[in-house]
Amino acid sequence: MLRNGRRGKTHALVVDDQASIRTMMRKALMSMRIDVTEAENGQQAVEMMRLEMPDLIILDIEMPVMNGFDACRALRVLEGGQFVPVLMVTSSDDTESIQQAFEAGATDFLTKPINWTLLKHHLQFIVQSTVAARSLQESERRLEEAQRLARIGSWELYPDTEKVYGSEELFRIFGLDRHLDAFELGDFLKHIHPDDRWAVEAALADSLQQGKELDIDLRITRKDGKRRHTQLQGLPHYDNNGVVCYLSGTLQDITERKLAEDKIRHLAYYDPLTKLPNRQLFREQAELTLKRASRSHHQAALLYLDLDRFKHVNDTLGHNAGDRFLQELSRRIMSSLRDTDLITPPQLDDDANRDPCLARVGGDEFILVAGDLQHPQDAAIVAQRILDNIEQPLSLDGQEFFPSGSIGIAIYPDDGDDLDTLMKNADTAMYHVKARGKNNFAFYQAEMNAKALHKLQLESRLRRAIDNNELVLHFQPQVDARSGELLAVEALVRWENPEEGLVSPAEFIPLAEETGLIVPIGLWVLRSACRQLRSSIDAGYRAIPVAVNISSRQFREEDFVESVSTLLAAEGVPPKLIDIELTESLIMSDAEESIVKLKQLKKMGMKISVDDFGTGYSSLAYLKRLPIDVLKIDRQFVSDVANDDNDAAIVRAIISLANSLKLETVAEGVETREQLAFLSQQGCTLIQGYFISKPLPATELLEFFEFTGQQKQPSTEQSLPPAAAVGG
Ligand code: C2E
Ligand code: MG
Ligand code: MG
Repeated sequence: MLRNGRRGKTHALVVDDQASIRTMMRKALMSMRIDVTEAENGQQAVEMMRLEMPDLIILDIEMPVMNGFDACRALRVLEGGQFVPVLMVTSSDDTESIQQAFEAGATDFLTKPINWTLLKHHLQFIVQSTVAARSLQESERRLEEAQRLARIGSWELYPDTEKVYGSEELFRIFGLDRHLDAFELGDFLKHIHPDDRWAVEAALADSLQQGKELDIDLRITRKDGKRRHTQLQGLPHYDNNGVVCYLSGTLQDITERKLAEDKIRHLAYYDPLTKLPNRQLFREQAELTLKRASRSHHQAALLYLDLDRFKHVNDTLGHNAGDRFLQELSRRIMSSLRDTDLITPPQLDDDANRDPCLARVGGDEFILVAGDLQHPQDAAIVAQRILDNIEQPLSLDGQEFFPSGSIGIAIYPDDGDDLDTLMKNADTAMYHVKARGKNNFAFYQAEMNAKALHKLQLESRLRRAIDNNELVLHFQPQVDARSGELLAVEALVRWENPEEGLVSPAEFIPLAEETGLIVPIGLWVLRSACRQLRSSIDAGYRAIPVAVNISSRQFREEDFVESVSTLLAAEGVPPKLIDIELTESLIMSDAEESIVKLKQLKKMGMKISVDDFGTGYSSLAYLKRLPIDVLKIDRQFVSDVANDDNDAAIVRAIISLANSLKLETVAEGVETREQLAFLSQQGCTLIQGYFISKPLPATELLEFFEFTGQQKQPSTEQSLPPAAAVGG
């Protein structure tokens, strides 16, 4: 209410019932260039103030209709009335009236008789200070209004009390109660996005300790959960000793500006074809990821992916189809990231925090950065998932393509602590893959990760081993310890790896166990054993039971029993021809579950052997309850049985234990005549080992049949029902 501002002149209201005093007042005021309106009593004055509020009121006390005290009280409750200076005119000795005048809200008082010269000074002073106070109020109000419009809150931070005082607008930006006027510093920081918090803390510390100016963008999470982008600016203030005693500044909500910027950013930072980030954005995101990884002492992985034979697609179908190919493949790569639970999928609402970030950086090149790895192996899992996902056949313009890719992986900080080095190294690793036949992934720095790399390569090859027909079964005969008659064979898997030659199961079975690949491999072994059995029977040989090794993970599969029975039925092999071999430690690791499953297998008619017996800890109590048929005496006891009394004693004990439980015994790894002699003398039932035969490929096994007189004979007792599906 700057009336004098609007009219250029101060306006006073003189209220007195005596006309002569009003006239004198008017004269005095007008000589000070103050406009005057007159009222005869309090009521008239209040009505006039309702119409237009004066800048100054001179109010007599004793008046008819409404006295000065009442008029002053009425004035103070009118809009704008609380700020107007009111001078009450009292008698000089009437201290009670003076007291009452102040209680009614008077600003000051004048004593009668009026000293006109003094009055002039008095009024001048009042008018000046009123004008100054008003203009200050006004400018504060304007500032506040401007701040609200611009969404700027102001604040002061006192380090000694750790309090942040804020303006209304500051709290509004935070979506908080306006009645607040201070935050605890900790609460203030709590509202800041966790990814920005450390930077804000660092900037505040810099200001407080080194007097640096503050200027930092940060995201806050409002009370209602909405996220706002803000800019925090501030200055330090010093005490007499030159120490920063507080900071003051502003916080501006710049969300709208950010959104507009984001739109522009999107145009500049994304690949229009695949909608993936381009190289620029990738750089920014990757730098952030590396920074975060460095702070949290985690590893990060950079994956460089190059599609194999993309040029071929472009050449055969043209660029149009090539574009669609790229679009589909980037979708597949993206979905591999969503599939993985190792890394959080990108948050679409939050551009600034994309981890992992996948970008298209060239025609058929993609790059991915993922932070917070617990282990480099996580990167391998992601890489493998991408390869698996892009590998699905893709038909374009009626032609079928089999896409694949090559991925190089560099791990931060081991393979480089800056983005460029990591990109270069991942690229090198990628070329490494290309050179070695594509469609795979590789870690950079083979020497450093040689063991892991070897394992990973083995694993990725093992995944393909079944489809590539690289697995083969060998069969090792088991003969009667006394007559030498061939009574059974043990199926032992072999892997003919094109690069490494024959790989021993002792090497890859544990790996298959670890990765879960043992489940499909185990089924393959069982199926192949069945098929071999059928084909030899179909060729007229006597049906010989086949022992099949089952590993722990496979056995513990919930539907293990069911899958075995389904498979046997499909292959047309009666369960009594299959002997399930489980190691002693496997059975004992969860004896109760083992008993349930073994009973089911047994009920189907299968035979159960305990492999490597003597190497684990069998509880005799359980052994008695287990539905088993055979104990296989481990090779380690057999090998020294002829020379070592201890081993001889162990073997004797096992055989007598088996006898008392009415179980058969098979001695493994029998290599010499002496061992054979000892074992048969002790009453061991079956002999298996190099002394009889090494594990043989199927064709050689048939020769062994002929050699030992197991050749073709009309199959009567062992005749089989026709197979549902007989393989080769
Ligand atoms: P295992 O079941 O105890 O098999 C016996 C191992 O002893 C076989 O090794 C066999 O070749 C070897 N062996 C047999 N006779 C002699 C001998 O006189 N002297 C010597 N030094 N060794 C002999 P292999 O084939 O390398 O298999 C090693 C292990 O791998 C097996 O031990 C078995 O635990 C596992 N395995 C093999 N095939 C399969 C399979 O199809 N599935 C599963 N789950 N495991 C398998
Ligand atoms: Mg075995
Ligand atoms: Mg064994």
